[in-house]
Amino acid sequence: MQKKYTIYKCVDEQHFGVRARAIFLNAVYGARFYPDAPETPCRVVLPTGNTPLPFYTALRDIAENVPPFEYCQLDEYIGLPDGDERLFSEWLKHEVLNPLNIKHRMIFNSAADPQIEVERIKQWYKERGKIDVAVLGIGENGHVGFNEPKTEFHLRANITDLSPLTIKSNEAYGKGSIPKQAITLGIGDLMCANETILLVRGQAKAAILMQALYGPVTTDVPASYLQNYQGRLTIVADSAALSKMPQSQIIYQ
Ligand code: PGA
Repeated sequence: MQKKYTIYKCVDEQHFGVRARAIFLNAVYGARFYPDAPETPCRVVLPTGNTPLPFYTALRDIAENVPPFEYCQLDEYIGLPDGDERLFSEWLKHEVLNPLNIKHRMIFNSAADPQIEVERIKQWYKERGKIDVAVLGIGENGHVGFNEPKTEFHLRANITDLSPLTIKSNEAYGKGSIPKQAITLGIGDLMCANETILLVRGQAKAAILMQALYGPVTTDVPASYLQNYQGRLTIVADSAALSKMPQSQIIYQ
């Protein structure tokens, strides 16, 4: 089996955060000089969830030195009012965007008519082009963003019904019950990103990570699209998440 990705194995949370930060900064500095967008900050997708928290801590530690980028939202619940603490946009504001003073923000409007909002998002990408750097997590069911199992790989921004497993894991964030529907960038959007950094932590993700990277490419495991991904893919993971990975693969410490 030919390895097409770089996988970094991290020994603890701090190592994970600093490693993810280094790869991210490298990607952002590189993307700023893409000839098709020399004058605009690079478009960056960032995930919510527990996994990226050490990465965000590491970014905040050097907030002054993080170059400006344009934050592009990955996914959001439908139907929550502005300022609701369950909103992913609020989470990211507190965690990253405000501390880093990120001014350019492409945030989804949870309270808007979802169909109209999805059209707005699609139009936004049509006018501006693709994502430069997609930082992603993976769900235990293989979702990326809110692209749940069975989502077609060609879809762009779309409205999705959350799976029972996703609802359960996201309610475990402790912010109360969550909407059953969401808007997400589609795999069609993520597939076009110039670079992808996949963050994975914990034993609970070991099996699905293995399936995503080495199992069949199937909509049953949305993250398996990464096997056909043409951009640069880097995986930053802890030892637990890599415990089922074939040891023959080169894993950088
Ligand atoms: P987690 O969520 O980082 O909290 O595990 C990731 C995801 O579901 O995409």
